[in-house]
Amino acid sequence: MIDRFWDVMSHQSESSKSGEVVLYGIAASPGVSHGQVFRFLHDEVEVPRYEVAKDEQESEIARFKDALKQTHDQITEVRESVARNLGDKEASIFDAHLLVLEDQALIDDVVGEIHKTGDNVEQCLHRVSQRYYDYFNQLKDEYLRERASDLQDISRRLLRNLVGATAAGTAFLAEPRILVSEDLTPSDTASLDRSKVLGIATESGGKTSHAVIMARASGVPAVVGLRELTSKLSDGDTLLIDGFEGIAIINPVETTLFRYGKVGLRRKKIKDLLEEQAHLPAETKDGQGFNLFANADSVEEVASGIESGCQGVGLFRTESLFLRKNEIPSEDIQFAEYKKVVQAASSLPVTIRTLDLGGDKILDASGREKEENPFMGFRAIRYCLRNPAIFLEQLRAILRASAHGQVKIMFPMISGVGEIIRAKEFLFTAKRQLSEKGEKFDENIPVGCMIETPAAVSICDLLADEVDFFSVGTNDLVQYLLAVDRINNQIAYLYEPHHPAVIRALEQVFEVSKTKGVEVTVCGEIAGDPHFLPLLLSLGVDSLSAAAPLLAELKFFGRQFSYDDAFRLLEKVRTCRRPSEINRILKDFYDEKISDLLG
Ligand code: PEP
Ligand code: MG
Repeated sequence: MIDRFWDVMSHQSESSKSGEVVLYGIAASPGVSHGQVFRFLHDEVEVPRYEVAKDEQESEIARFKDALKQTHDQITEVRESVARNLGDKEASIFDAHLLVLEDQALIDDVVGEIHKTGDNVEQCLHRVSQRYYDYFNQLKDEYLRERASDLQDISRRLLRNLVGATAAGTAFLAEPRILVSEDLTPSDTASLDRSKVLGIATESGGKTSHAVIMARASGVPAVVGLRELTSKLSDGDTLLIDGFEGIAIINPVETTLFRYGKVGLRRKKIKDLLEEQAHLPAETKDGQGFNLFANADSVEEVASGIESGCQGVGLFRTESLFLRKNEIPSEDIQFAEYKKVVQAASSLPVTIRTLDLGGDKILDASGREKEENPFMGFRAIRYCLRNPAIFLEQLRAILRASAHGQVKIMFPMISGVGEIIRAKEFLFTAKRQLSEKGEKFDENIPVGCMIETPAAVSICDLLADEVDFFSVGTNDLVQYLLAVDRINNQIAYLYEPHHPAVIRALEQVFEVSKTKGVEVTVCGEIAGDPHFLPLLLSLGVDSLSAAAPLLAELKFFGRQFSYDDAFRLLEKVRTCRRPSEINRILKDFYDEKISDLLG
């Protein structure tokens, strides 16, 4: 990022001066913000403890009963939605949850605990459910052991209802805050009121976790991988996060704020410069154009991509709609959303990707079982092919939207030819169903697939015979190729998009695409990182798709080097054996081209 050239404070790994505490994590979304902290309650709810006067115990019990009813209603609603969308068998997992809520022994124990200890209901519920949990969890019988996790889920939900915390509770905030959490899931991020979030700081997560991708797309600064952050924070603390350098500073002192203030002025200068030039075409110094598309997951993001002067939407992630609604939306709801997306793109092409649930994008209402290895599991196209009703509904919705603009359809996480053939059969069925109803759609809608598994790279020549275009998802490709979980911050140092294995894989895909005449775009996060731009162009890609806030800088940097410069850079990269050397070379190239401009 251009901002890397700002004076960066020289801190050690954790420093403290006059009370400020500096923590180092992973720079996840660029930008600096400072503000009061809001602790985001995810799974674990902080359990309040206080004494309740004897004459108030009955109203405490009434609170408990209200929470039981509220929780019962919520679960019944989720159960109905799953039954509607997936069938009764899948919905039946929620019956176990409802049974826990109706369990008179548990209710009596909580009430008894309130009378006995005089503590508040949250504390009593927590203690009783912990006792039950410990008991079930040590049983040999696997079925009964599983009841322990049902119980845990339910008591968390009950606690949340009791303390009035919603899992995604930012809407009630009066002032924008820095959101702090141990972990943030995509469904949390999808349901945040983004106008209330100044920045995000989490203990876990990697640069390409979906929660972070969403933060980056909405321009919210984020730092992740900040170990022990939550334990170091106290009520009323403020936090400064530097999403360029991956730094978080608890209670920054005046001099630190002053320094960041200076940085802010410089950043503003750069931002103005980029904005001034945003309307210029995406091309290199020698005038060779490249295509720049936007990644988006909402109508608003499509609109801001178009405003940034992109040539269309290269990746529309549909799962966000599902996560925001926390249910499987009907065909009509999906159609309405996709139509708005297409209209917001004002006649430019939009690539809509079919549902990529799974991995870190979990939807309660999808009725899925917990997986040991979710990123290698029941994800994306695998889930869709096994849930025909959901898949067909989505395909019909996308097809109907294609009557309102230029739509392409793309299938995620393909690892074999069979999957793409079956996906196309579903598309054929969806077309037939619409034709029977006399609905309009683009008969020749282009079909593409993501190249994001090592298998897809190896057989991309075979896949090319089945599709009109490829889109390389480097976020997943890097994790699968290098066997490094993209959201595990303990091994984040091994998540290296500049690894020679990744570069060779890209080269293979680009070459095959040329030979086979299949268009290729890169839509993983490296497409939005200007350091990679000369490398990707010299490797032969001509289209990139990145979050809207990153497009102006990509264009700006593109104008600073020629294709010859980029080819010379590629020669140097080819001599490298280690990712760190490649990283250095890309950074040096960037520095050299940009330093004169910044003065
Ligand atoms: C990718 O894997 O690079 C990609 C664009 O898809 P997602 O990040 O949604 O998995
Ligand atoms: Mg992916």
